Amino acid sequence: MQIDTSTLITYSTVLMAVTGGLFVLFWWRETRTRSALWFGLPFLMGATGAAFLIDTHAGPYDLNLKIGAWFVLMAYGFGWQAVRVFYGRRPLPIYVIGSTLLWLALSVTVIDEWRLFAFSAAIRGVLVAAFNGLSAFEFWRNRDEQLPSQKILFWIFAVYCAFDTVRTLLVSIVPLPLGALPTETWAIVMFNLMAVTLALSVTVFMIALSRERVSMANYQLALRDAMTGVYNRRAYFDHMNQLGQMQEGAQSGYALLVFDIDQFKSINDRFGHETGDMIIIRATEAAQSVLRRHDKVYRFGGDEFVCVLTDTSLDEAFAAAERIRRTFGQLARDIGQQTLDATISAGVAISRHSETPEHTFARADKALYAAKQDGRNRTIMAPETMPA
Ligand code: GH3
Ligand code: MG
Repeated sequence: MQIDTSTLITYSTVLMAVTGGLFVLFWWRETRTRSALWFGLPFLMGATGAAFLIDTHAGPYDLNLKIGAWFVLMAYGFGWQAVRVFYGRRPLPIYVIGSTLLWLALSVTVIDEWRLFAFSAAIRGVLVAAFNGLSAFEFWRNRDEQLPSQKILFWIFAVYCAFDTVRTLLVSIVPLPLGALPTETWAIVMFNLMAVTLALSVTVFMIALSRERVSMANYQLALRDAMTGVYNRRAYFDHMNQLGQMQEGAQSGYALLVFDIDQFKSINDRFGHETGDMIIIRATEAAQSVLRRHDKVYRFGGDEFVCVLTDTSLDEAFAAAERIRRTFGQLARDIGQQTLDATISAGVAISRHSETPEHTFARADKALYAAKQDGRNRTIMAPETMPA
């Protein structure tokens, strides 16, 4: 197969320019999110760089080649900036422009000797490896977001970084543009293929990543109660499912604390629905102020709440419930101009080994029912042997 490298690079130039243009269009028409514009930049720089490289018969000392290589270097550096902006970090274009300009200055001034020529190619390799490595690092340090495409993008950049490191080490035995020896068709084809493959895969997975982020945000929103901001009933079942799966391996117990506002109907009737809403909010505030950061509070329905306390004994859970009850009593005393004496009743249960979450909940709920029967404004522990 005969490959005409100029045609190949022309194609790549057009491809990069179109992709860069599409990112800009996307930004302008749809979202105006800054990162879309930043993602256009590396493609437009890559296109500009490739355009300077189309004449592959130019000698290695040709200025066009150097300017072209400079833009290609900046394309990798600005790819890193786009990833930073995507994660809400400050872009650092000055580092990219500065370091690549330094290379350009070096290569146009002192390069007529072969050893310096290899040195210049090595710096180019190091810069590309560093920019790709830094992009990989940005994906790695944001791994907590747990978006599926993030992992793939990390690996793409990590593999490219490794490849660039290897070709930099082999710079004196590999032809341009991979290394420093006189250029050969295969090296041009390979360099081109690597750049185009990187551009395409990053485009696909970055678009996927931004969609994943939006749907993750929507999902998180769907797990929250709009009025109080604490988790809702859907979240409870979701989290219990996860906890159930984890418990099959490691068996650390958790306590369930179920509480309900006493005579809430009558509070609504006497003080109005708005005051009732405030009381509900105070109830979640009381629970959140007492519990630890990793304990979870759910609004299970109307005036009923559930708290999940991991690694907690029954006595500790009882003590926590009592503290919530007292705190709520204080928080709910003065609302607006009115003084009212709202109280809560609570039931606590500790998860037994090999008990389903439904069963534990039923025991806690039964204890709550007993607290109501006993006269309200109290906490009752579910006996471990109590049938659900
Ligand atoms: P008990 O002590 O037995 O729990 O008596 P209760 O009156 O609190 O009875 P219950 O828990 O069944 O009453 C729940 C009431 O909560 C009924 C409903 O009108 C009211 N409610 C449910 N959701 C809301 C809400 O979002 N805001 C307000 N203000 N009231 C609500
Ligand atoms: Mg109630």
